[in-house]
Amino acid sequence: MADEIKKSLYRIVVPLPNSPLKDLNSYVIKGEDRNLIIDTGFNRSVCFEAMQKGLAELDIDLNKTDFMLTHMHSDHTGLVPRLASETSKVYFSRIDAKVFDKDVSWQPLIDFAEVNGFPAGELQKALASHPGLKYSPEEIPVFTLLDDGDVIECGPYRLQCVATPGHTQGHICLYEEDKKILFSGDHILFDITPHIESWAYDTNSLADYMASLDKVYHLPVNLVLPGHRNFLGDLKSRIDELKIHHHERADEVLDVLGRETLNAYEIAARMTWDIDCETWEDFPIAQKWFATGEAIAHLRYLEGEGRIARNTDKKIITFRAK
Ligand SMILES: [Zn+2]
Repeated sequence: MADEIKKSLYRIVVPLPNSPLKDLNSYVIKGEDRNLIIDTGFNRSVCFEAMQKGLAELDIDLNKTDFMLTHMHSDHTGLVPRLASETSKVYFSRIDAKVFDKDVSWQPLIDFAEVNGFPAGELQKALASHPGLKYSPEEIPVFTLLDDGDVIECGPYRLQCVATPGHTQGHICLYEEDKKILFSGDHILFDITPHIESWAYDTNSLADYMASLDKVYHLPVNLVLPGHRNFLGDLKSRIDELKIHHHERADEVLDVLGRETLNAYEIAARMTWDIDCETWEDFPIAQKWFATGEAIAHLRYLEGEGRIARNTDKKIITFRAK
């Protein structure tokens, strides 16, 4: 079902079954010559049907439609090859596009998880049930690559790209200055907290995320349109909440660490998680994967702040408080 947000601007709610995100907001701008669709849903038939239904209601001709994907995650990118026509441009972050290079292997990620204490036997299972793999685009479209400051025009909308690394390294928000609208992707969500993870110690994704929150804080914005759930929130107060949340999470990591020396997987197992499982052992493997990635992001952040030390002498990387 499609709902009208403003003149020429609509939202299609795309269900994401079995995902804690529940659904994805696909935004549709109807232009006179061409239309623009921002984010698409998983490469799953239930998502495809919802998009087809919504687009039919809006009378959208896919032969006159371009796409913009806020970041690489499959719930945003998965459907684009099935929806795009031969004339469609697919706008996408230059940085996140690297993930779709054919030569990119999962091996460094597997090795990295292993040196952070993730049990080797569970790794393959984690990858097999990872929605990033299961529902990713079946073929990689030709992208029109975006950098910070680039502008996409569609109908009465002039959308400026705001590079907002953190949720992913190449995440891009779109800012409509005259209408004071921010399409925030997964950079800012209201009902849930954007997932910040790290799978390499040379990136400090939580520090990047905090800086990206600052980057959009002072934009004059009346309407924030996020990638998931409701859009009835205020930009500045939500950013304040998100920053407090991550500082509290970082403090929790310090508490868990105490006087001990632990690896990231052990720390993740002792943190609190908003999931319907009694014990860490009961967590679905994909959730353990997400949790460990989130723990690593907070550990790397604390390390950057000089509050903990990372020990890389042994096969498994460990941390201790300073
Ligand atoms: Zn995402």
